[in-house]
Amino acid sequence: MLWLALALAPPVSASTPAAFGDLLSQADALRSADPARFEVLLARLTERVHEATPAQRELLDYLKAYRLGYTGRFDLAIEAGTRLFETSSDPAIKVRAGGLVVSSRAVTREFVEGLVFLDKVLALVEQVDDAEVRHHAWAAAGVIHNQVGQYAQAVHYVELLQADGVQGRTRCFTGVLRLESLGFLDAAPEDPAEFQSVIDYCLSQGETMLANFGRVHLAAKLAADGQVPVAVSLLESRLGEIEATGYPRLLGEVHARLARLKLSLGWREAADAHALRAVANSSGIANTQVLVQAHEVLYENALARGDAAATLQHYRQYAEAERAWLDQVKARELAYQMARHESLQKSQTIELLNRQNDVLRLEQQVAAKTAEANRLLIGLLALLAASVFYWAYKVKRMQVSLRTMAQTDALTGVSNRHHFTQTAEALLEACRRGGADAGLVMLDLDHFKAINDQYGHAAGDWALRQVAEACQAACPPDGRVGRLGGEEFALLVVNQDLASVVGLARECRKRIASIDARGAGHAFALTASFGVAGSRSGGHDFDGLLARADDALYRAKREGRDRVCVHMPGSHADAPSPASR
Ligand code: GH3
Ligand code: MG
Ligand code: MG
Repeated sequence: MLWLALALAPPVSASTPAAFGDLLSQADALRSADPARFEVLLARLTERVHEATPAQRELLDYLKAYRLGYTGRFDLAIEAGTRLFETSSDPAIKVRAGGLVVSSRAVTREFVEGLVFLDKVLALVEQVDDAEVRHHAWAAAGVIHNQVGQYAQAVHYVELLQADGVQGRTRCFTGVLRLESLGFLDAAPEDPAEFQSVIDYCLSQGETMLANFGRVHLAAKLAADGQVPVAVSLLESRLGEIEATGYPRLLGEVHARLARLKLSLGWREAADAHALRAVANSSGIANTQVLVQAHEVLYENALARGDAAATLQHYRQYAEAERAWLDQVKARELAYQMARHESLQKSQTIELLNRQNDVLRLEQQVAAKTAEANRLLIGLLALLAASVFYWAYKVKRMQVSLRTMAQTDALTGVSNRHHFTQTAEALLEACRRGGADAGLVMLDLDHFKAINDQYGHAAGDWALRQVAEACQAACPPDGRVGRLGGEEFALLVVNQDLASVVGLARECRKRIASIDARGAGHAFALTASFGVAGSRSGGHDFDGLLARADDALYRAKREGRDRVCVHMPGSHADAPSPASR
């Protein structure tokens, strides 16, 4: 309770405010210095809570929680402080509310809960700019560690405060807290001036009671240095003042210390009196070291007096007090270890969760990368497939065009001699097998050389194209036209008798004769001589047919050109036959 009250901020006086915010600041400033005025302000603020911003509302909630602690309703203070700590997002409010929870847990001796909560509060301290709020948290840490017997930790937090320039009441009480903790650690400062400066500082702040706690620690130090009388007079000179505070804890400490000191000087009666005063003042405070010291003194005196009954009685009380004290030390140590264990477990759980998160994140990254790689692969395969198809298509087209080129006469577009021969042979074979007739027409332009000579090679080419076109137009769909070379062409006709083939040759002759060169700017006439051979007389052999048609053609030339001659069977391909137009 003492530490809790003193852990809170110093008083600040303020004029009467009008605005809600000013009232709130004033209440905050004087909350520990002027409880009565604080109560009044808090009541007024509660009435005007509708004026509060969310941040002001949180501060008001904190002050109300603080008031609960201040008035001894620690359970309610813990509940309200915990709620505020969990709901607020402001680190300063969280640290203040958390500090209140820790201090209250120290008072209710719920050390495990207090220490575990303290970890949460300390984790936020770095985020707080307000030094006073930071000091609040460290002071709470110092108090609870001192209470739980972790004196080195308590000293650590006090030294943090000192390094951070702590001032006022907090500096005074944490200075005394440090002296007490160092005493328990058997590491009290060497120089008594160090004690004195803490005492003087507390006195400068009007903290008489704390100054006297400081004197108790100084007395212990002096006694340890062998200056027992100095220690005794130090405490005795202040005894009146100390008695006037009526504070049992301080009175217990002082009398127990005096009892021990006076016993060591051999002043047994005085020692007994102080021991009894110490016991009386400690009756409400269970399990303290003061009781142990007091009963020890009473027991030693009884023993020295040879009072067996009193010796036994005091020894029992001494042993009981010591056992209670040691039990408490053990309980506090256990509480501390449990809290550490719980915090460690929490941080390990958090670490584990973090690791799991890392693993999950990595897995997601791997999945994303795999998906990306798959997409790329699919894209690549699609590209590959497209280019394969494209190249296959190109190659196919090239093949087709190469084949076409290889099969076609470039000038006229009809089959060249080689292709015509191949095709004709296949068709003739099919006819032979099917028992069908076929015929071959061969034609040669008349005096073509003269056209070339007279009108030029280009005119000759034009004429060749016109002739090929005329033959194609006349040729039935299942027939074939080919250029045998120069100005010689041939037509193969299938499934037709000789008369029809002759008819076709005549049709071609007519078409060629009717080609009008004037359309191309020339003035020549075009004729051709034709030789026809049929399969019925010459068989289905291409070469044979060709030779016979050529024979008839030769005859057509001889007989005056521009005519159709049919190969007559019987003659060596040369039997006389009627020439006809
Ligand atoms: P004939 O009536 O006896 O057949 O007389 P001709 O002049 O037609 O016969 P010849 O064999 O003496 O001449 C054929 C000519 O055809 C010779 C050549 O210049 C011409 N010739 C051959 N191939 C082509 C060609 O591709 N283009 C052109 N413009 N002329 C060609
Ligand atoms: Mg010729
Ligand atoms: Mg010719």
